[in-house]
Amino acid sequence: MFRVRHTTVSRSIKVLKRCKSTLVIAEHNNEKLTPCTLNTITAATKIGGDISCLVVGSNCSKVAEEVSQIKGVSKVLLADNEAFKGFLPEIVAPFLQATQQQFKFTHILAPATATGKNILPRLAAKLDVSPISEITGVQDDSTFIRTIYAGNAVQTLKSDEPVKIITVRGTSFESAAVGGKASTEKVSVPVENSTSSEFVGQELSKSDRPELTSAKAVVAGGRGMKNGENFKLLYDLADKLNAAVGASRAAVDAGFVANDLQVGQTGKIVAPELYIAVGISGAIQHLAGMKDSKVIVAINKDPEAPIFQVADYGLVEDLFKAVPAMTELISKK
Ligand SMILES: Cc1cc2nc3c(=O)[nH]c(=O)nc-3n(C[C@H](O)[C@H](O)[C@H](O)COP(=O)(O)OP(=O)(O)OC[C@H]3O[C@@H](n4cnc5c(N)ncnc54)[C@H](O)[C@@H]3O)c2cc1C
Repeated sequence: MFRVRHTTVSRSIKVLKRCKSTLVIAEHNNEKLTPCTLNTITAATKIGGDISCLVVGSNCSKVAEEVSQIKGVSKVLLADNEAFKGFLPEIVAPFLQATQQQFKFTHILAPATATGKNILPRLAAKLDVSPISEITGVQDDSTFIRTIYAGNAVQTLKSDEPVKIITVRGTSFESAAVGGKASTEKVSVPVENSTSSEFVGQELSKSDRPELTSAKAVVAGGRGMKNGENFKLLYDLADKLNAAVGASRAAVDAGFVANDLQVGQTGKIVAPELYIAVGISGAIQHLAGMKDSKVIVAINKDPEAPIFQVADYGLVEDLFKAVPAMTELISKK
């Protein structure tokens, strides 16, 4: 879309400026929208202009309906095709490229999750533009804020790419509210199958606990937990608080817990109301994933541990005494 202004003096085109139109790629499991999509839509509203939301998946019309009710979304684009089973980036990225050729968006946004990080850089490469990763703020339609050096410095980045391909850190933006009524349009772009990869199946871990990145409280354990069995202490405490359980990379690398619990630079970014760090020293790479938490509690037997520098409440104590005592106290309430 182009906006053209004429002047009567020269009758020539003085300004030729593209209107802003943003595409948000919805993240979902074909049944339900992942909450980080709502944060990404809020980031899109800060850019301004029209917002369309693309639901790519197989048997995902329910998700399209959910998206159509989100405030700020003016159009839902639905691409429902068996080929999208497993959301293979080798199939989704070329499809997005073809979609972009048709719609000519000025911005394409996705949550900075494993899925978003898998697809968007490929799309950027195909469109021959630099991707802008994990923004935490929007200054204007071409200026974005992001952190660099494991969260040690804040970068203000101005992009002059014709289409801005952006992943969004969900914890930095509020969730978009429900209450909209967008129209839904089926995308008629052809879908090409991949010759290099094929979706065979998936085994998803099931848990009754809240999901780590959207939980209101997180109890995380580090190398100080000593072994995987001792994480039971954290699960007991988490159950009382309706919290998710997280871990440092050292705990994951030592095999105490699965790597989907890792919080930090190379793990998940969380910003819950309450983060309890147990037996975690507070290395910069861990802080990069949790320092935006509203209230941070640290339990560590070393009073010099760096985690105390970011903690709102610190307890210098042996965790094997402190954690069961906390769980017991909460149980009595
Ligand atoms: C490129 C790169 C990326 C990385 N990404 C991540 C990441 O995403 N997430 C991450 O966490 N790390 C990451 N790391 C690793 C990071 O540098 C640290 O090594 C790691 O965070 C340390 O984990 P920890 O705090 O559990 O272990 P440690 O640093 O060994 O700390 C253990 C803590 O437990 C305390 N403790 C021990 N016993 C007890 C007890 N009985 N009671 C109370 N306290 C006790 C100790 O005092 C100590 O402070 C990354 C590193 C690199 C180089």
